[in-house]
Amino acid sequence: MRKVLYVPDIGVNLISIGTVTALGAKVVYSGCDVSFSRNGIVDITGRRIENGVYKLNLKVKPAETNRALVSKSVGVPLSVWHTRFPHVNNKTIQKMEQLQLVDGLAISNHDISCICEGCIYGKMCRSPFIESKREEREVGELIVTDIQGPMQVPSLSQAFYLLLIKDHGSSYRKCHFLKKKSEAAYLILQFIPLFETETNKKVQHIRSERRGKFDGKEYKCRLAELGAVQEFTISYSPQQNGVAERDNRTIMDHT
Ligand SMILES: [Zn+2]
Repeated sequence: MRKVLYVPDIGVNLISIGTVTALGAKVVYSGCDVSFSRNGIVDITGRRIENGVYKLNLKVKPAETNRALVSKSVGVPLSVWHTRFPHVNNKTIQKMEQLQLVDGLAISNHDISCICEGCIYGKMCRSPFIESKREEREVGELIVTDIQGPMQVPSLSQAFYLLLIKDHGSSYRKCHFLKKKSEAAYLILQFIPLFETETNKKVQHIRSERRGKFDGKEYKCRLAELGAVQEFTISYSPQQNGVAERDNRTIMDHT
């Protein structure tokens, strides 16, 4: 069809009888039916629906038929093959091509000097920490603390965090379940006088991670009043707080 006006918002497409007949088509109305023919051959038929409008039986004919797609392998740079094969060694890929081990593996650029960012990140590692000598400590000399969480599943009392307070010298341990991390500092401050009363020993150092309320002014002042020296572990270095971290694992393994 030519000279068709396409109006998407109109809801229906209308055909002008004047235009169709001017193009040489014959339009015949008979009762509720209509037919469009050319050279005696009926092309389109339709039926009246409402308001004197006829609905035509039309099918959209694809513009081109009998289309076939053929794929052809084209060589791509080695860096692309490196990512296609999940970051395998470049030399291995070159060998795979040489020995024709993979169908369609064609390398267009053998430059192996390009740097793969993903591989650099993937192969980065931290040098191991020096094994620490286990020092014998007196009761109250060092109290270590650690917070674990948030847990994926809350406890029966809706707690998401676990606070561990442990005396290095005596292995005396106390656990608290917290709804909020901010409760930890208050519980540690409560622990110190209780521990001192029970053991008749002074708390000298208290070690925690540098996060949450442990870095707050109020907490620091209270610790100073209690005569305890605050120590921090370096962020993302749980190795420095081995005793507390190990105990956390032990507790979690029991649950
Ligand atoms: Zn890579």
